[in-house]
Amino acid sequence: MAGFPSTARVVIVGGGVAGVSALYHLAKAGWRDCVLVERNELTAGSTWHAAGNVPTFSTSWSIMNMQRYSTELYARLGTEVDYPMNYHVTGSLRLAHSRERMQEFERARGMGLHQGMALELLEPEAIRDRYPFIETHNLAGALYDPADGDIDPAQLTQALAKGARDMGATVLRFTPATGVSRKNGEWIVHTEKGDIRCEYVVNAAGYYAQRVGEWFRPFGGRTVPMAAMSHQYLLFEAVEAVRAWSAEHGRKLPLLRDVDTSYYLRQEKHGFNLGPYERDCRAHWVTPDDPLPEDFSFQLYPDDLDRLAPYIEDALTRVPVLGEAGVSKVINGPIPYAPDGNPLIGPMPGVPNAFEACVFTFGIAQGGGAGKVLAEWVTEGCTEWDMWSCDPRRYTDYTDHDYCVEKAREVYGHEYAMHFPRHRWPAAPDRKLSPVHERVRAAGGVMGAYNGWERADWFAEPGDDTTPESTMTWGRAGPWEPRIRAECEAVRDGVGVLDLPGFSRFELSGGGAAAWLSGRIAGALPRIGRMTLGYFPDARGRILTEMSILRHAEDSFTLITAAAAQWHDRELLQAGLADGLALEDRTRERDALVVTGPRSRALLAGIAEADLALPWLSIQEATVAGCPALLARVSFAGELGWEIHADNAHVPAIYEAVLAGGARPFGMWALNALRLEKGYRTWKGDLSSDYSLLEAGLGRFVRLDKPEDFPGKAALAAEKRRGVTKRFVTLVVDAGEADAPYMSTLWNDGRVVGETTSGGWGYRVGRSIALGMLRSDLAEPGRAVEVEIYGERRPAVVQPDRPLWDPGNERLRA
Ligand SMILES: Cc1cc2nc3c(=O)[nH]c(=O)nc-3n(C[C@H](O)[C@H](O)[C@H](O)COP(=O)(O)OP(=O)(O)OC[C@H]3O[C@@H](n4cnc5c(N)ncnc54)[C@H](O)[C@@H]3O)c2cc1C
Repeated sequence: MAGFPSTARVVIVGGGVAGVSALYHLAKAGWRDCVLVERNELTAGSTWHAAGNVPTFSTSWSIMNMQRYSTELYARLGTEVDYPMNYHVTGSLRLAHSRERMQEFERARGMGLHQGMALELLEPEAIRDRYPFIETHNLAGALYDPADGDIDPAQLTQALAKGARDMGATVLRFTPATGVSRKNGEWIVHTEKGDIRCEYVVNAAGYYAQRVGEWFRPFGGRTVPMAAMSHQYLLFEAVEAVRAWSAEHGRKLPLLRDVDTSYYLRQEKHGFNLGPYERDCRAHWVTPDDPLPEDFSFQLYPDDLDRLAPYIEDALTRVPVLGEAGVSKVINGPIPYAPDGNPLIGPMPGVPNAFEACVFTFGIAQGGGAGKVLAEWVTEGCTEWDMWSCDPRRYTDYTDHDYCVEKAREVYGHEYAMHFPRHRWPAAPDRKLSPVHERVRAAGGVMGAYNGWERADWFAEPGDDTTPESTMTWGRAGPWEPRIRAECEAVRDGVGVLDLPGFSRFELSGGGAAAWLSGRIAGALPRIGRMTLGYFPDARGRILTEMSILRHAEDSFTLITAAAAQWHDRELLQAGLADGLALEDRTRERDALVVTGPRSRALLAGIAEADLALPWLSIQEATVAGCPALLARVSFAGELGWEIHADNAHVPAIYEAVLAGGARPFGMWALNALRLEKGYRTWKGDLSSDYSLLEAGLGRFVRLDKPEDFPGKAALAAEKRRGVTKRFVTLVVDAGEADAPYMSTLWNDGRVVGETTSGGWGYRVGRSIALGMLRSDLAEPGRAVEVEIYGERRPAVVQPDRPLWDPGNERLRA
């Protein structure tokens, strides 16, 4: 066909806001030879009927970043690409019914301030000043976001498309893609109008993402984890008082979000738009009698107002003038949901040169930022901000159909819910079970999910409150607290055991494995029979991952990493794996027990045939309770201890023997408290690609003098010469009822000077601890700063660069 592009650098499948924003940002990055194929007209999927709200609010740092970027882009886009559009920056009021909600707002305000946004907390009396039609009877206050607003989603998409076309990119409308194939290391995207050969493919197919994703299964792909939810909003006719107010003030009312009731209410012309996220929600296209249609372009679901009745009633009480208008129109359309409600943006798991920018629940608000992130992934292989919250690899092999549907319903029904740190969302549990799961539960294990693996968070005693409601607090106190304390004390004074199924576990072997591995990590490899931590930097010297490297022979290693990191790290290892090397994922085959505390040696002496005098960081094959096992002398809890790694079949016998030897079971929450006291970092909290290895205080794991040219070596050398601008610190905090959560703002002299990366109570040292990143000129022991914890600025002191507990590591080495 004349003019049809038979080649392109990138082909994007899907012309909704996300795909078009990706195309725009690729072109902006200089990648103009890119083609977007859209089955119908642009916006035909979810985009055309979206309400167009553009909030910045999030308690996730990266999502807030992405949404903030969108608002900044949308403000200038019309002029930049010469496509004027309706973008109303109205501000918004997010209403709080409780103190906990106000605390959540305080947290978002602190993060927003750190990102340069002037979010404001309002007392109930001040709300009416901003919104005269509101009843404030049951409100504790509100959060005012001046950057919030609404945009016309179709105009936004067209503006991005115009910008992309003007820069040389191609948009092909009415061009359904029908499949992909691969030839000579390139993709061929098949469309109804012809084939396009390209280097990279992006799945931006919205609620069709799962169907498009299936094309990639023969090339290593998986089924895209998602389900389509029905979402409605109602348009109301004009209200005279609103018309008069707008005329007098020359603007629209701020958008209201009554998040505790679960709806938003926005001025639309001179009437309203009411959009609930109802608990009694509906997934579509998830049962055989309701298949996903071949083409749903510009279509809607039938209205279903019954489900919305309670929300409409509530809104009438909140803003009584709403009662003066009738409903003029109902929109009920599909929104795709991933199991956590965040989109999928980044590398398509398992598939070379394929990416995803799909499954957006807030695609209008996030589309701008998402395009930037996607373009960075494609053109640079890394992103400016750590985007793990949206990385498709955060889901692995446990997200089957039922899981996706149950989770989508749960997340939709709680779209505005608070995410308390100790709260486990209950839907779809028990995806992957340890070989001693029943035993752990019988001992009182209150379980959490880690990459789908059930692990005990803490151990309850009879009568303890383990209901989900008990966890609805930002505070430290709760039924778990005395138990965690006792678990920590058992580890400090005696011996504890933690069952840790799902450690990501890779076996690397083959001639040259050592040299290859050494060329990937910044530090040195361990000697044979030893283990160490290896850090994998990217080209910027930022932290991609941390692995425990156990060396069995010259070229034989076990690499152990966080449960959540399984697919991320597997891809990192597979990328560029040298010829002749074998990499095996043995995550599902083996389990680990952490046996730690001053009595651990005596316990193991009674049940193991092993050399228990081998030093800290040694590894050995041993027999434990008559079963073959690998003993690694290490303890993330910071006491004398061993990890026992064994095949699943042997774990029950070993666990029983360890319990019979007097070990007290402890859980993940105790482990977190214990590791904080040692300053041990966790992946994607303290260790993320937001920070370089030097900033993270991991200089001792960086060998700039080794011969291999590992990724980031030049960048780290340059950073070392320059000096870091921020630095990892341990803080002791004079905390109140809550410890510092991730991304609490650090203050000094009235200025923001850093952020925490994790925090909690240390039961051995009896202090509240925060780990974080601080402006480097302030990162000196004894320096007083403040940590903003849910709006309260609490005094904190920078600690010397050594563990708070057992600073000389004598207990570990005992
Ligand atoms: C009622 C309602 C209100 C909403 N309100 C808001 C809001 O206020 N704010 C907000 O941020 N979000 C809102 N959303 C969500 C928002 O609409 C979506 O998140 C967003 O539109 C998703 O954009 P997308 O580009 O990912 O997907 P889509 O817009 O669905 O685009 C995907 C495109 O891919 C095309 N496609 C699929 N398969 C193929 C193929 N094989 N070949 C070629 N093309 C293909 C489709 O035709 C479609 O155009 C709302 C959603 C609903 C239902």
